[in-house]
Amino acid sequence: MAEDIKSLDQKELEAFLISLGEKPFRAKQIYPWMHVKHAECFDEMTDISNKLKEKLKAACELTVLQKVQVQCSKIDGTRKYLFALADGNMVESVLMKYKHGNSVCISSQAGCRMGCRFCASTLDGLVRNLTPGEMLDQIYRIQKDIGERVSHVVVMGTGEPLDNYDSFLKFIKLLSDENGLNLSQRNITASTCGIVPNIRRLAEEKLQITLALSLHAPSQEKREELMPVAKKYEIHQVIDACEYYFKQTGRRITFEYSLVAGVNDSENDAQKLAALIRGQNCHVNLIPVNPVKERDYVQPELLAVLNFKNKLEKNGINVTIRREMGRDIDGACGQLRKRFIERQGGS
Ligand code: SAH
Repeated sequence: MAEDIKSLDQKELEAFLISLGEKPFRAKQIYPWMHVKHAECFDEMTDISNKLKEKLKAACELTVLQKVQVQCSKIDGTRKYLFALADGNMVESVLMKYKHGNSVCISSQAGCRMGCRFCASTLDGLVRNLTPGEMLDQIYRIQKDIGERVSHVVVMGTGEPLDNYDSFLKFIKLLSDENGLNLSQRNITASTCGIVPNIRRLAEEKLQITLALSLHAPSQEKREELMPVAKKYEIHQVIDACEYYFKQTGRRITFEYSLVAGVNDSENDAQKLAALIRGQNCHVNLIPVNPVKERDYVQPELLAVLNFKNKLEKNGINVTIRREMGRDIDGACGQLRKRFIERQGGS
């Protein structure tokens, strides 16, 4: 099988080139073409010989995503990208422009098998895991497209990163590699629905990335209703794993809480949530649920959101309400991809 060359770290690339009968220093030429200059093909790599280019074309694959569609917000510059992978699968990524820099939200899988009730990305299940190169290239293509540096990355698009653990970890290492894009791990956030053993494994890696935990409910019972994965990992186990992550890394946890009217947005829910996470070094991010066409969940009134926030704050918890970006090109995570697939298949 052709070697997926963009998913290799510099050492592995050296070993691969040696296996092709090349000198190891070639890795120092080829690696920056992929990870710094974001070359779209081997022919762009001007300092390597034609003979080596031909060898590479025959022995490996250079992952380059194809831009299929871009939606641009006229309000705040948010851009939603739909990319095609080499096998025709589609993934979505989003660029958000903030004062502190350009932030890209990437997908970690094509589809998702976690089944969260309010999420569009999971409606058709998991198609396949993304490779490290496919995760990286979402960022590389966007950086090339806008001609500006991407400074922050969030793994909050389609997919569950900790359900694609090895590739996700490799992706983080490549993304923060000083010979690559060299993104500070402190500028990377990964969001998980709470796969406990892999939160613990990740903690032991002692990375400096922020872990965002999708909590969405203050009790086991309500969490199970919204997130099938909760049946596998009990809520207190999840909270304990987060505490362990903080102990190992010193990184404050973000708890994400999507507010759904009449489901998890009462003051009593807020009170229970405060009790659940009290004493943790954490921060709560409230997200008024983004309505998904296929589901009937609705956003709470603004007043309910503010009351929820106040209740948490009175209990000494740090809270923010997620700022909505790209309102005019909205559609919850995964909807762009889903609509595209429907159009392709349906008409
Ligand atoms: N699998 C990861 C990342 C996926 S999405 C996870 O579960 O965390 C990133 C965040 O958006 C998660 O907190 C997810 O629960 C939330 N989310 C998904 N669909 C949503 C919707 N329709 N409205 C609000 N939040 C949503």
